[in-house]
Formats: sequence, C-alpha cells, structure tokens
Amino acid sequence: MSKHLDSKDSGSKPSGSNSAVDASPAYHLDTLAVRAAVDKSQYGENSESLYLTSSFTQPDSQTAARRFSGEEDGYIYSRFTNPTVASMEKRLALLEGSEACIGTSSGMSAVLLLCMGLLKSGDHVVCSRSVFGSTIKLLGSEFAKFGVETTFVSQTDTKEWKDAVRANTKLFFAETPTNPLTEVCDIKALSAIAHASKALLAVDNCFCTPALQRPILLGADLVIHSGTKYLDGQGRVVAGAICASEQLVREKFIPVMRSAGMSLSPFNAWVVLKGMETLGIRMKAQSEQALSFATWLQTHPKVSKVYYPGLTSHPQHELAMKQQSGMGGAVLSFDVKASSPQDARQKAFAVIDKTELMSVTANLGDVKTIITHPPSTSHGRLTEEQRHLAGIEQNLIRIAVGLEHLDDLKRDLSLGLDAI
Ligand SMILES: *Cc1c(COP(=O)(O)O)cnc(C)c1O
Repeated sequence: MSKHLDSKDSGSKPSGSNSAVDASPAYHLDTLAVRAAVDKSQYGENSESLYLTSSFTQPDSQTAARRFSGEEDGYIYSRFTNPTVASMEKRLALLEGSEACIGTSSGMSAVLLLCMGLLKSGDHVVCSRSVFGSTIKLLGSEFAKFGVETTFVSQTDTKEWKDAVRANTKLFFAETPTNPLTEVCDIKALSAIAHASKALLAVDNCFCTPALQRPILLGADLVIHSGTKYLDGQGRVVAGAICASEQLVREKFIPVMRSAGMSLSPFNAWVVLKGMETLGIRMKAQSEQALSFATWLQTHPKVSKVYYPGLTSHPQHELAMKQQSGMGGAVLSFDVKASSPQDARQKAFAVIDKTELMSVTANLGDVKTIITHPPSTSHGRLTEEQRHLAGIEQNLIRIAVGLEHLDDLKRDLSLGLDAI
C-alpha cells in the first residue's frame, strides 16, 4: 500500500512542485491524511523523517549544475527544496484536491506569496470586507503602496462582487466562514463570477480545512492555509501553504519563493504533517462539540445572540451545511446581554475573566478551548464605526471550541455568565 502513496513523484521531483496527480484515486482522504508523503529513506522509518538540513550535497559539479538550472530534479537548498516540506505539501495537496502545493513560513506569508506571484502594479483585486484583519492590511495598505488596488465588498452579497469587477481585475479573495461572526460566502457562485471576468478565485480555508470544505472542488483556483490553526491542531508552530495547479505553483510561486524566501522550516512542516494525520477526527469531534455548545448558549438567559453556521438560526445555514460537509466548524461567537456600550464591554470582560479552564489568547484551531474578545484584540485596530458596520459590538465573545469535556466547558463559561 505504501508503495503507491510514497509514490515516486515527490521523491524524484523535489523542485518544490509536489504533483499529486499520479497518486492512486482509490484511497480515501482519511488514508491519504495518514499516509501520503515522499519516499521513505533507506532506513524504512514508519514515521516520516524530519530532514533538518539547510542544504543537500551534490554528487558532482556536473549534476549540481544540472540541478541548479532545473534540467534535473534533486534537492538543493531548503529555502526552496526540502523533503519534509515536500511531504507536507504532497499530503495537503491530496487533501485539498489540488495538483500541487507550496509551503510557506506562515498563513500571512502564503497570502504574501499569492499576491507577489499573481499581481503586478496596475492590477485590481476584489476581496471580502470580512476576511482576516492582516489580509485586509496586506492588500489595502501594503500592496496599495505598489499600485495594486483592492475593492472590499460584502461577504454574502454576490452582486457586490460582480459590480466591483473591472477590466484589470485579476484576483478574487474570499474566506469562509469568517472570523468572528462566521458569515458564509458561496464559493461556487464566486468562482463563476471570477471566471466570467478571467480572474482567479483564492479561498482562505483556515476555519474549515479540507476535512470539511474543499474549495478547489467548488471551483476555486487557489486555497490559502494558515497551518498554524487546525492543520497543526495543537497550537505548536506557525506555518502556511498555497494549494493550486501544478502550473501556477511551478511558474508563479516557486520562482518568488526562490528569490524572496518566505520558506517553511522543515521542523514546522513536520509538525503540521503529523497534525494532518488526526485532522479528520479532530474537525469532526470539535464541530460536534461546538454545535452542542452553541445550542446550549442559544437558550442561555444571559446571551442575546449566537453566531454559528451549524445552527438553523444562522442566515447562511443551508449553504454552510452544503459547502462544509454538514458541519459548522469549531468556532462560534455570541453576544452577552448588555444595557449600554460601556456595560457591554464590562460584561464581556467579566465573563472572559471568570473562566478558569479556557485559554485567553488570540489563536484558534487548538484542542485547547480558546476564548477572546474580538473588539479589543483581533479587531482592536478598527474604529468603533468600522466595527459597528461589521456587526462587531463590545459585547461579543468568540470561542474556538477544543476537545475538553463539554460539561467542563459549560461549567467554565457559566462561572462568568451566571455572575453578570
Ligand atoms: C490566523 C489566520 C491567518 C494568518 O495565519 P498565520 O499563520 O497566523 O500567519 C490567515 N487567515 C485566517 C482565517 C486566520 O485565522
């Protein structure tokens, strides 16, 4: 079995383009998540090797010259070729259903590589207003300095995307569900609009992961990952990746990676590779926990509103269930009841500070449950007006549900909710 999965492609073609197309389609995703990797070493290790080396020795100068020019495949230097990184890329490409994948040092460096590879001065991007805050900063401020203009549009109104298209629109950028309000966009509909105007669609699949949602199969051209979140799954390393066609990875991304070096460290790639082995069962278990938790919160007397795609009360519930394998994911948010904006913040802080088990930290995607106050942390750089427009008020709390026992989580949150 492992013969097929440790197939020759990545082992013998280590240019960083880890073609997944020759992998056996007979294997299920759960199997690929555990088994897909480059060839074993001569020692036959069962757990994939960690190749912690900056460079690779060459048999002779002639071979080195051929490898450097791209005439021959072979590992050269870990800024752009490393077998451990190649294993992670291969596994993630197979899970996402893309031909290839390129690992990056963080989720944000994946977005940076995406934009550097695909855009030039004078190009235009259409992006949801509700994507990750640093993505908004990168497109709206940093790339604007180099003459790339971005129009930010509604997460859920596809007409706004269509109306924003210009002759120079090259890229649509979407993220679904969003942080912290879990708004869902229609990937299929956006891909149709993008392709009608010859633009590419990139989807940040950080919240769902391929265990729940596979944007490539819904028409997206590129998938962005923060490996820091659910792919690692235990809050250990910062990592990222772009999944795309073999041609895009080879022609657009590897050359930029080679020149600019937003490289994924082999150690971090190895941790993510191991994390992916349990991705399916974690996403399922954490989604089930989140649904139970959201259902409980919905009837809590101190809570005025719950935001979770798995609830029938969610405005895009049907779309989410269709697009996300019938699961809502592990992130939910809720408003605590309050009488004024001052009271709202005080109440939210009181609930968070009374918890004893949940981690008060800005991350998500961990098996440890995380509680945050988005308006004063992740969305603290927005003005009160911008936050109001986005629907993020001072009484909002976000929870990324982990794997602790649900009764312990409910009791922990009740310490604060019952006290306010
Ligand atoms: C965290 C996150 C990112 C950025 O990833 P890093 O690994 O922290 O750079 C991008 N998109 C989403 C949706 C995220 O949650």
